[in-house]
Amino acid sequence: MKAIRKFTVRAVLPEALAALEELAGNLRWSWHEPTRQLFEHIAPELWREIGTDPVALLGAVDPGRLSDLAGDADYVARVHAIRGDLRNYLEKPRWYQGLTGEKPAAIAYFSPEFGIAAALPQYSGGLGILAGDHLKSASDLGVPLVGVGLFYRAGYFSQAISPDGWQMESYPLLDPDGLPLSVLRRADGSAVQVSLALPDDRTLHARVWQAKVGRIRLLLLDTDIPQNPDDLRLVTDRLYGGGGEHRLLQELLLGIGGARAVKLWSTLSGHPEPEVFHTNEGHAGFLGFERISSLIGEGLSFQEALQVARAGTVFTTHTPVGAGIDRFERGLVRRYFETDLLPGVAVDDLLALGAESYEGGSPDVFNMAIMGLRLGQHANGVSTLHGEVSRRMFSGLWPGFDAAEVPIGSITNGVHAPSWTDPALMALAQNRLGTSDTSTANWRSPEVSDQDLWSVRGQMRLQFVEDARRRLTNAWRDQNPGGLPPAWIGRVFDPNVLTIGFARRVPTYKRLTLMLHDPERLRALLLNPDRPIQIVIAGKSHPADEEGKRLIQKIVQFAADPELRTRIAFLPDYNIAMAQLMYPGTDVWLNNPLRPLEACGTSGMKAALNGALNLSILDGWWPEYYDGKNGWAIPSADAAGDAAERDRLEAEALYDLIEHQVAPTFYERNSDDVPERWVGNIRHTLATLSPELSADRMVRQYVERLYRPAGHYEGLMSKHNYRAARELAAWKGKVVSKWPAVAVTHVESGGVSAVPQVGDELHLRAHVQLNGLLPSDVTVEVVYGKSLGGDELRDTESQALLPAAAPDLADMVEAAAGGAPNLFTGTVELDRAGAFGYTVRVVPRNALLISPAEMGLVAIAT
Ligand SMILES: *Cc1c(COP(=O)(O)O)cnc(C)c1O
Repeated sequence: MKAIRKFTVRAVLPEALAALEELAGNLRWSWHEPTRQLFEHIAPELWREIGTDPVALLGAVDPGRLSDLAGDADYVARVHAIRGDLRNYLEKPRWYQGLTGEKPAAIAYFSPEFGIAAALPQYSGGLGILAGDHLKSASDLGVPLVGVGLFYRAGYFSQAISPDGWQMESYPLLDPDGLPLSVLRRADGSAVQVSLALPDDRTLHARVWQAKVGRIRLLLLDTDIPQNPDDLRLVTDRLYGGGGEHRLLQELLLGIGGARAVKLWSTLSGHPEPEVFHTNEGHAGFLGFERISSLIGEGLSFQEALQVARAGTVFTTHTPVGAGIDRFERGLVRRYFETDLLPGVAVDDLLALGAESYEGGSPDVFNMAIMGLRLGQHANGVSTLHGEVSRRMFSGLWPGFDAAEVPIGSITNGVHAPSWTDPALMALAQNRLGTSDTSTANWRSPEVSDQDLWSVRGQMRLQFVEDARRRLTNAWRDQNPGGLPPAWIGRVFDPNVLTIGFARRVPTYKRLTLMLHDPERLRALLLNPDRPIQIVIAGKSHPADEEGKRLIQKIVQFAADPELRTRIAFLPDYNIAMAQLMYPGTDVWLNNPLRPLEACGTSGMKAALNGALNLSILDGWWPEYYDGKNGWAIPSADAAGDAAERDRLEAEALYDLIEHQVAPTFYERNSDDVPERWVGNIRHTLATLSPELSADRMVRQYVERLYRPAGHYEGLMSKHNYRAARELAAWKGKVVSKWPAVAVTHVESGGVSAVPQVGDELHLRAHVQLNGLLPSDVTVEVVYGKSLGGDELRDTESQALLPAAAPDLADMVEAAAGGAPNLFTGTVELDRAGAFGYTVRVVPRNALLISPAEMGLVAIAT
């Protein structure tokens, strides 16, 4: 009965328990164990059955039970105490409120997906979970963020596995009334609607759902409303479902509709309008277009509006994998903007922002990542390595500059510790160390014995094994209705065996099947009589990715072997709820992507917070944090002849590590049957990694390195009726038009001995043709460093050369007008031995540029 439309009837709570509604309506319960326990207490069986979900629980529980509890004075008191705690949490000043100095009053955070709790399935994988964790930490830190996304009627998809191992997708519809959401309304009770003009005189309407994520409001736009014709109701049908036009519609809604929704929400709620706009990956980038259009409405030109929008926009790029970047047909995008969608903006100006106008780019494509970089003055990758990779990958936008100068920084992802740390480990910290904050607890303290740690790890492993069996039993029942599950399912996994986890989406670069490279060797590791291992695998393949589905099938077929099936299993329908038990329950978290395609990876971080050790290729976050004690590094065979050879070498290294290092350490026990060395590594991991991997660290860095600067520049541009933006736009226009004839015509050098030595001074005199620009419009500088031969310099430094005489302004203007070359001079002290190289260049100079490379203009001495 696929067409059945469901709706949820919310329970009417007894007066004494009315506070439960408030607690269920704020997703803070998803990271607040005492609140969860309150709901669990109502009906423990039901709580487990429906999955952690307070709204669903209140809808399903027997009203008689609720009246009983309303008469239980202890319970009622607990409910009120916890509601008091929530209100405190929402109102009291937190970290952000204590920051002194200039800081944005509001920040809008846009993302195509948000993974907050299994009960609100609006995510596909790491990008969404990261967005959820970002909101939660922003809430804990008091950062005034508002989240913006879409509400997908069917979320991503539910995964089942057919008997022959093939992924089957289903799209059960969610009922928003059964979720912790409410419609955004005006004071008169009418629902707020956002509308977008479409081609052929059509209009797309969306209502706005709001979720409370602690202190943070999350706005989700939904097109499934009667005001839309049937085809447009489906715009928000599912996450990453369609291609081409469907995806474009979603992204127009997210960016443009989202920016409009935030504005309406600010007005209605009295919150300040955001000064900073953060786009999590390029999908939401159209928000910059909406801002430009609305600034043009205030009387600015396109270029002036662009300066303001850029100054306040932060763009985070999340992947070096081409398939992760949206590229639309340019003609299609044109059709959507040749409408009334964005009043006052010329279509060609907009299209230019997404043009791949660099070597190797396609003229027929509109590229969302490129647009993101042009619209966001502040940009970052998500690990140190990914920052480097991104600077190289996008260096075509800044021709003439070294990759190191490309203005893309990095902030390494983090994970929200209270959401991802098992309650058992938190309880251990609470009981022995006096704090449930596991990321700051002193794990080196002797108050926590090896025995304590090992026993909690065992408890978490057992809890996971039981969950895995339950999931496999349910999956078997779904495939064999009415049948009796076979006994072996009850023996899947052994709670005492070294457990390795591998769960993530299944794009090719993550190499799900690398472990199958030598099936006999893997079999021997699994069945080793003295030191066996067991492996749990999970992950969804994108529905259109047949190759990914084949990889899943290979794993499932391998694991079907009667001899192996209790040692290796694929768990269908990977999601937050499964992950929350899997990370704490595994001893080792495996990650074997093709370096450097994993931008960061966060599942290994979540495992580490629970004391699992990582076994990983040095990709994403791992090269930053691997220290020889917190896990193992699988060497990358970068130099291998071809992909197959590389897989072979890396798989063999993986088997060797497991056989000779991981398993022996795990099974080396002292007289109390505790693996002392292993527990030492767990302790070390908890003590050193927990604070570093926490999303609090990440969000603080976003505030300090990106949000505050973005707010600052946005403020500079906006004040006095956008004076600085107007001046900057005019100045950039002048510089761009004059630049083609700006040149370093001649460089004279002297001062260095015949045989150069440390301490010598290199005197430089550079003759520069400014073509009408003023010396103050440019920086003439010498860039020097270690010469690597060819055109490459390493460890470069730069030093400005100064106008030779200090001519008065009249002279300068005259020289500029007459086109006479300007003389710039300076001295570099040779303070390092070795091969030295230098070059002289001219770059634009303006206090409102955050990097000399920002405009992509440079004139280099030839
Ligand atoms: C953390 C997480 C991911 C992302 O894992 P990666 O290691 O970044 O690939 C995906 N899905 C779920 C359910 C997660 O919790």
